[in-house]
Amino acid sequence: MTLLERDPKSPLTWSGNLPVTSRYTFGLAGEKFFRAIKDEGKIIGSYCKKCDHTYVPASQFCEKCLAEVSDWVDVGTIGELHTFTVLYEGYDGARLVQPEIVAFISLGDGGLIHRLGEINLDEIYFGMPLEAVFLPEGQRQGSILDIRYFKPAG
Ligand SMILES: [Zn+2]
Repeated sequence: MTLLERDPKSPLTWSGNLPVTSRYTFGLAGEKFFRAIKDEGKIIGSYCKKCDHTYVPASQFCEKCLAEVSDWVDVGTIGELHTFTVLYEGYDGARLVQPEIVAFISLGDGGLIHRLGEINLDEIYFGMPLEAVFLPEGQRQGSILDIRYFKPAG
């Protein structure tokens, strides 16, 4: 259809595809954070001396004093259960065969949201120690999913 053939009362739209590509980075702190998971099987945070605050996941700037944070600390692979929920449906809305437990695990002064594994629902309590279970070294890709899940520690 040309412009002259167009119905002047119809909305001004046309269909098509735009060849747009984007590349997103983790940023400096995110890069260090995910490299530590991938290459070393470690969870690191960034530490602001002035505020005595450890950011997990690592952050390049302190949210309290806005200073650049350049101290990196290994916060270990064991955190504490802060809160959790149970998923009975997948992202597609289909009922899951096995319900999934997703939790916020406190690490440093922050924490991570992740799946729990090797645990029964009736075992869970707030404050329970949870340990990160990593994929084998050769299978990690620099993603939060390099941690398969958190399981009861000990
Ligand atoms: Zn600070």
